Amino acid sequence: MSNRVRFAPSPTGYVHVGSLRTALYDYMFARKHDGKYVLRIEDTDRTRLVDDAIENLINAFEWAGIMHDEGPFFEEGKMVQRGDYGSYIQSERLDTYRPYVDQLLESGHAYYCFCSKERLDEVRAKNKEKGIISGYDGHCRDGSLEEAKKRVAAGESYVVRLKMPEDRELVFEDMVRGTVKMNTADSDDQVLLKADGFPTYHMAVVVDDHLMGITHMIRGEEWLPSTPKQIILYEALGWPQPKYAHLPNILNTEKKKLSKRHDSVAVEDFKKKGYLPEALINFLALVGWSPEGEEEIMTLEEMTKQFSFERVSKSGGVFDVQKLNWMNNQYIKNADDDRLTDLAMPYLVESGIINEDGLEGHFDWVKKIVSLVKEKLEYMAQITDYVPLFIGDVVEITDDSAMEMIKLDHVPTLIDALVGKFESAEAFDAPSVKKLFKEVQKETGIKGKNLFMCTRIAVTGQEHGSDLMETIAILGKDNVVKRMTSVKENYC
Ligand code: GLU
Repeated sequence: MSNRVRFAPSPTGYVHVGSLRTALYDYMFARKHDGKYVLRIEDTDRTRLVDDAIENLINAFEWAGIMHDEGPFFEEGKMVQRGDYGSYIQSERLDTYRPYVDQLLESGHAYYCFCSKERLDEVRAKNKEKGIISGYDGHCRDGSLEEAKKRVAAGESYVVRLKMPEDRELVFEDMVRGTVKMNTADSDDQVLLKADGFPTYHMAVVVDDHLMGITHMIRGEEWLPSTPKQIILYEALGWPQPKYAHLPNILNTEKKKLSKRHDSVAVEDFKKKGYLPEALINFLALVGWSPEGEEEIMTLEEMTKQFSFERVSKSGGVFDVQKLNWMNNQYIKNADDDRLTDLAMPYLVESGIINEDGLEGHFDWVKKIVSLVKEKLEYMAQITDYVPLFIGDVVEITDDSAMEMIKLDHVPTLIDALVGKFESAEAFDAPSVKKLFKEVQKETGIKGKNLFMCTRIAVTGQEHGSDLMETIAILGKDNVVKRMTSVKENYC
């Protein structure tokens, strides 16, 4: 049987980085083992529905480059589904589940439960008093099926519950955790069909995974407590068990579970800040999985070749934003300048640094700056810190130590010499500017910090920055001459 894996999110309106990691492991596993990766939307909890959630989800995966083989896709703004096992959206499969619920009722693996909300609240309150984790007390468990059917026919409201074996040890092999033992006594009689006729997650997930031929269930460790219920359901329905892989939690640097309230968790937020998808994917893969070699910067193809659940850790993986920033910087440094410039433009427009109408006219100029400063960028939104330096012809010196340097005795001579060279220069690219500096050094004897740092201050107002020759070349002859002349007049 071919390998089939699935990612089965309940769309919430944003994509948690943990979801992207699960999807990524699904994707890599499927690619490596000639399998198929299915995206199934689990939207049976109608109270949690969010508009456009499916589209946002798919857009985020598309951006990340982790696309499924089967499931819903968006083409020209319209949802289409591809694959032989559709629909891949649970709310469109509601008729699928009821026959299996009936099968479980008939075979005695499930039962009708007529307990009112008040009664269940009472049970819960009593449990709480006794310090027991709340669970159903089995009140309707042993009622007769014939009797129950009569009550249903008479219109009584009901749910259907799974009859969990009372005390059975379940042992299963988890691809990450090895042999896992759990006792059925720790799971109560889960609702399978709700009063509104909708299946619960447990019912729907087992039926769909079976009908869609899913061979490996890869999901977060928070689903581990669900596994015994699902194993029992597979057994009761007479279906072969899939293999399980429960992935470790993603923790923040304080070793607490990454939470929406305290941490950046939405993939969309990382996209908005200008992280490159290939960097985020590379980083996320390593939150929980480690390749064999030392090298951490890897393409998706390289990671896929090496990926295995044996090297996924059982304990939580740390999401360290500093490391992500380092990695993203590595990717930015090697990325194509045209691509980076396209990414940079919206931040410059949004912050009012450049005007939207002049976007095209500014492209080449922004590209030069991007190419110069990209080695410093952790994410593209930071471009707005670097571009203003290239705008206008007035230099402000605010820093005390820069002020001290610009007031050194040799600075007026230096500025005059450089301005003289610049004005008569024919070429003004970085190598030509460098030659002019050499000439000035020879002619005036000014060198080292006195030459380079003082000129940088006269040109940018700052003591440190990106390559000086490139900076001067981007600013252009007229601008640099104006800047240096005004600094001499105002500060020296
Ligand atoms: N719908 C569940 C979720 O929201 C799927 C869990 C599973 O993979 O079994 O994550």
